[in-house]
Amino acid sequence: MERKLFEDEHEMFRDSVRSFMQNEIQPHSDRWHDAGIVDREAYLKAGEMGLLLMWADERYGGAGVPDFRYEQILIEENLRYGDPGFFMTLHNRLVGPYLGELGTDEQKQRWLPKCVSGEHILAVGITEPGAGSDVAGLRTRAEDKGDHYLLNGSKTYISNGILADLVVVVARTDPDSRHGLSLFVVERGMEGFERGRNLKKMGLKSQDTAELFFNNVKVPKDNLLGELNRGFYHLMHFLAEERLLGAVQYLAAGEAAFDITLDYIRERKAFGRTIADFQNTRFTMADMRMQMDVGQAFVDNCVLEHNEGQLSAHDAAKAKLFTSELEGRIMDDCVQLHGGAGYMDEYPISRMYVNARISRIYAGSSEVMREIIARSVGLDPRKKQPKSLSSDRASAA
Ligand SMILES: Cc1cc2nc3c(=O)[nH]c(=O)nc-3n(C[C@H](O)[C@H](O)[C@H](O)COP(=O)(O)OP(=O)(O)OC[C@H]3O[C@@H](n4cnc5c(N)ncnc54)[C@H](O)[C@@H]3O)c2cc1C
Repeated sequence: MERKLFEDEHEMFRDSVRSFMQNEIQPHSDRWHDAGIVDREAYLKAGEMGLLLMWADERYGGAGVPDFRYEQILIEENLRYGDPGFFMTLHNRLVGPYLGELGTDEQKQRWLPKCVSGEHILAVGITEPGAGSDVAGLRTRAEDKGDHYLLNGSKTYISNGILADLVVVVARTDPDSRHGLSLFVVERGMEGFERGRNLKKMGLKSQDTAELFFNNVKVPKDNLLGELNRGFYHLMHFLAEERLLGAVQYLAAGEAAFDITLDYIRERKAFGRTIADFQNTRFTMADMRMQMDVGQAFVDNCVLEHNEGQLSAHDAAKAKLFTSELEGRIMDDCVQLHGGAGYMDEYPISRMYVNARISRIYAGSSEVMREIIARSVGLDPRKKQPKSLSSDRASAA
């Protein structure tokens, strides 16, 4: 189905992003896969091309372009021609907006220019060994010590965790309230801020997913981001965009898997004909095509709604849930149509298959998405329960 949301300038942008991905990202992909991390230079090159934090105001070096369609193109081209572990979008639209929307003028002046140039790489630290979906259960603490906050605790599964120069860390500032959280910017080199392991994962091998430790880190008061004790609500504010970013990515991964499978089944022969000639193959491909087109129409509409500031938490949750579940089915079907080759590391579909497994878990799991959607139709058990049970990532609904 022809997509209607892009205009000529978007298509021109897509062409330049495609050549950036083909020339500057993809050639390093195998090396990054083995190393478990991408080169810092990838961010510097993206910065030179003006691809980082495009929404940032010109006075901070950005292009002043908040249009989400540009990020959609970056994601689509990275998934197709770049490297799925190059988490430029996490930097651009998942963490960057915390600084852009919650930061004071002084903070934005201090941090944004180097994020736009790629000299500083961003991460966000919410998840802890004992708390993931249940954000309000976080244990990392920041105590007010007069001229600074004293930060103690740890985070895990943090994307860009090794590369990050600035980490937006969520910490408890009011021990008496489950929602008493605040956001702090922890900078590379602060005494007591240490990285743990670059965690070995099933997929997304080139992405550095790490543990972070905070041992008596003196965080200056100037590094509090947003309002004290309002961190939980600040986090919720950004969740719709985070889920839309995911939806765009999962569909793009599905499209790439579909296309390589289409090529494969036309070449590969069995029983005197191509795999594509079997009715089962054609029906499987038809089902995939139909579901991706329907999903894309919904996601593209969400993008336009988001550009108008109208995207609801439950529509973003539907987009994330539908596309991540669809991506999982597509990857499974595409491996099946590849036969044994689909299980071999040298065939891209095998990596795509394992990369996709996390989509149903991070950025809010499928179960949490279903909670949000159920609440939007009036099925909300929180109204019958004590308040302390109503504070997980699903509370964005
Ligand atoms: C590769 C990777 C990258 C990540 N990047 C980051 C990052 O950059 N920053 C960050 O902070 N975190 C990051 N995470 C963490 C991720 O957000 C969490 O893993 C996710 O939120 C799930 O939390 P959990 O792992 O604690 O699972 P749990 O919360 O323990 O969930 C376990 C199971 O219980 C289910 N469950 C939980 N609550 C409910 C409920 N209310 N109703 C029904 N079922 C429920 C879940 O759906 C899941 O199936 C990353 C994780 C991975 C694997």
